[in-house]
Amino acid sequence: MKINENYRKLEESYLFSTIAHKVAAFQEKNPNKKVIRMGIGDVTLPLCPVVVTAMRDAAAEMGRKESFHGYGPEQGYPFLKEAVQHYYFSRNIQLNEHEIFISDGAKSDVGNILDILSTDNTVLVPNPVYPVYVDTNIMAGRKILYMDANRDNGFLPLPDEKVEADIIYLCSPNNPTGAVYNKEQLQQWVDYALSKKALILFDAAYEAFIKDSTLPRSIFELEGAKRCAIEFCSLSKTAGFTGTRCGYTVVPEALEFDGVKLNGLWLRRQTTKFNGVPYVIQRAAAAVFSEEGQRQVKENLQYYADNAKIMTDAMKGAGLWFTGGENSPYIWMQCPNGMGSWEFFDLLLNELNVVGTPGEGFGENGKGYFRLTAFGDRRDTIEAMDRLTGYLK
Ligand code: PLP
Repeated sequence: MKINENYRKLEESYLFSTIAHKVAAFQEKNPNKKVIRMGIGDVTLPLCPVVVTAMRDAAAEMGRKESFHGYGPEQGYPFLKEAVQHYYFSRNIQLNEHEIFISDGAKSDVGNILDILSTDNTVLVPNPVYPVYVDTNIMAGRKILYMDANRDNGFLPLPDEKVEADIIYLCSPNNPTGAVYNKEQLQQWVDYALSKKALILFDAAYEAFIKDSTLPRSIFELEGAKRCAIEFCSLSKTAGFTGTRCGYTVVPEALEFDGVKLNGLWLRRQTTKFNGVPYVIQRAAAAVFSEEGQRQVKENLQYYADNAKIMTDAMKGAGLWFTGGENSPYIWMQCPNGMGSWEFFDLLLNELNVVGTPGEGFGENGKGYFRLTAFGDRRDTIEAMDRLTGYLK
C-alpha cells in the first residue's frame, strides 16, 4: 500500500492555529480585556424564520410514514433545482434544470470537480487566494501557476495571453480581497478561456453581497461563458447556511471538451460518489428562494453590508488603502505605516484587542495586507473601528 505522495507536498497551514494561539495567550494574560474578533469568515446571524419553519415542517414529514423520504435524487430534488433555476431566471440567465446540481456546499464541489479533469492540466490561480483551490490541486499533483493580484491591478488580475493554462480559478466577490470584477474584465477572462480552450471554475459564493447592479453576479451573464465555465454557489454566506450546508453548482450543457460534455461527466461522478443533500436541508434551502425568504435573507445581508460600510468609512477616514467592503463582506486593507501583516496583527491584538487575518496567510502577495470581515456584531464592529481610527489619529 502506498499513500498519495502528493499529500506530502501540502504546506502545513499554521494561519488559523497561530492566530488562535496568539489570541488565547493574550486572553490568558489579560482576562479583563474584551477582544473583538473580525478574522474568521463565518456568519453570526441566525437562520431566517422561514428557513427554520421549513426545516421543522420537513422534519415532521420525515416522521410520518406517508411523507417519509429515503434516498433522493443525487443531483437534488426538483423543487430546489426549480427554485435555483428561477433565481437565475430573475437575473436573466436561462438554465435547464439538469444544468443545476445541488450540493452540501461550495467547498466540496470546488474540490470534487477535479475528479472529472485530468491531472495533466495546468492550473491558474490568483495570489492571494482562497487556499482550497491550491491545496486540492496539490493533492492531485497538478501544476499550478500563480497570477499576481496586487495594489496596481486592484487585486483583480486580468488574463495574460502568454500564459498557457487549462483550468482557471476566479472568485468574485473575492475571498480574501473583497474585490469584484466588472463585466468588461470578466468578459476578458471568458474570451481568454475560449481562445485557450480552457475551463473557468467560477466561485460565486459571495454573489448575494453585490449591490451595484452593473457588476456581474454570475459568470453566465457574460457572452460565451456557458462554453467555458462552471459556477459554484452556496447558501453559506447568502443565508447563514455555514452550519446547515447547502450549495449548488451549474455545469452548462454547452460545456464540451474533446467531444465530451462535462455535464454528463459530473452527473456520473455525483451519482457514483454522492447520495445527495438531506431532504430537510433541501426544503430549508428552497425556503431561501421563496419571496418571503428572499426578503428575510436580504435583511441579514443588509446588516453585514451596514457593518462593512462602517468599516470602509473608518478606513477612508484614516487614509488607509483597501479593497472590498462595498459589494463584499471582506475588507482587504494595506497595513498602515509599511507594517508587515503579522506585525500589524500583533499591534491590533495587543494594543487594540482586535483580531483580523494576516494577508500573507493567503499567499505571498498578501504580505503587508490584512483581512477584516463584516460578519460580526454591530456594536463590536463600531467599537473595533473606533479603536483603530483612534489609534491611527
Ligand atoms: N468559496 C469561497 C471563496 C469561500 O470563501 C468559502 C467559505 O468561506 C467557500 C467557497 C465554502 O463555502 P461552503 O460553506 O458552501 O462550503
